[in-house]
Amino acid sequence: MNKKTLKDIDVKGKKVLVRVDFNVPINDGKVGDDTRIQAALPTIKYLLEQDAALILTSHLGRPKGKAKPEFSLAPVAEYLGGLVPVPVKFAPDCLGDVAKNAAADLKTGEILLLENTRYHAGEKKNDPAMATELASYADVFVNDAFGTAHRAHASNVGVAEHLPAAAGFLLEKELKYLGESIANAESPFVAILGGAKVSDKIGVITNLLEKTDQILIGGGMANTFFKAQGYDMADSLVEEDAIETAKELLTKSGGKLQLPVDVVIADDFAEQAQSKVVPVGDVPSGWRILDVGPETVSAYAEILKSAKTVVWNGPMGVFEFPKFAKGTFGVAESVAASDAVSIIGGGDSVAAVKESGLDTKVSHISTGGGASLEMLEGKVLPGLAALTDK
Ligand code: ADP
Ligand code: MG
Repeated sequence: MNKKTLKDIDVKGKKVLVRVDFNVPINDGKVGDDTRIQAALPTIKYLLEQDAALILTSHLGRPKGKAKPEFSLAPVAEYLGGLVPVPVKFAPDCLGDVAKNAAADLKTGEILLLENTRYHAGEKKNDPAMATELASYADVFVNDAFGTAHRAHASNVGVAEHLPAAAGFLLEKELKYLGESIANAESPFVAILGGAKVSDKIGVITNLLEKTDQILIGGGMANTFFKAQGYDMADSLVEEDAIETAKELLTKSGGKLQLPVDVVIADDFAEQAQSKVVPVGDVPSGWRILDVGPETVSAYAEILKSAKTVVWNGPMGVFEFPKFAKGTFGVAESVAASDAVSIIGGGDSVAAVKESGLDTKVSHISTGGGASLEMLEGKVLPGLAALTDK
């Protein structure tokens, strides 16, 4: 990587401003899924070992520029306190005297978490005054918030202009897999793309067509490709506006795009619906495709068996209904069984792989939905671009 990472900068005994991604679910004032907090621990623990004073910032949810208690990071401060060997102090604002004084009083080996950066409208506007104020608390800046790296905000991009700025361990790991592993992928390189809409993934398909050997399509997005090939999709989710694009992608793909050969259809969009497996051309009126079929899972398994690099974004079906989760879980098993470098990105895809219990058997599970998608589109993330060059 051509950007400085944590080990490239001197943090010993320094005040370090760390942008973390603590945008976690809060239920009744308590932290729900703590994946993102856990993912920040390697950076936090390293900085503590280096005897740094840690000033942590994050956003949580969408308070729209106002202080709203339901988006407070206070529960996260308490939760983090249970995971690290030192108490975690909390400042009820990330700007103003409370933050300034708390940061000034902070000693080495201590942690201070500042309140939600999105309580201020300047955050999302990348307001220079807000960035200057945040940067004034510290000597160096570490960005470890991969989940927001695709946004140019004050707390991740603006601050980097004022301080020596390096990538934390989580950001570095995400970039290693979603950047380097894909750019220098070992062949056969197979992508699995699914999810609801093809329109969300056109950039990803276009970019991966250039890099992969094969792309296995599933999920609702397959329907639009089928429609483009002239099949009747009955009540399946089809994006009429994207049919032309689907046609172009099929032409451009030179046979790289693999579509499902059989599908699971349902007489209602519901868990309790009647369901059956049919060939793609046989969706009766009143029915809809909610998953890929068993023959497709086998065909994809055969391809994945010899893959050396696999990247996966988008579930194969409506996995939220157990009855229509077999395609997604079946493909997850093939990915887990292969000895390929395997990378999973996308909020729902990650949730599905975790639900399948196979998350420990893949090389990398991304912590960022939108950010991972932009990486797969081949875009340069602003949060990364803002860091100091090596
Ligand atoms: P990710 O978050 O991993 O990028 P997406 O948001 O693109 O994935 O898509 C996930 C959603 O796609 C899931 O909620 C799933 O129910 C839906 N989906 C998958 N297959 C179908 C289908 N055949 N019809 C309707 N929705 C589908
Ligand atoms: Mg999603």
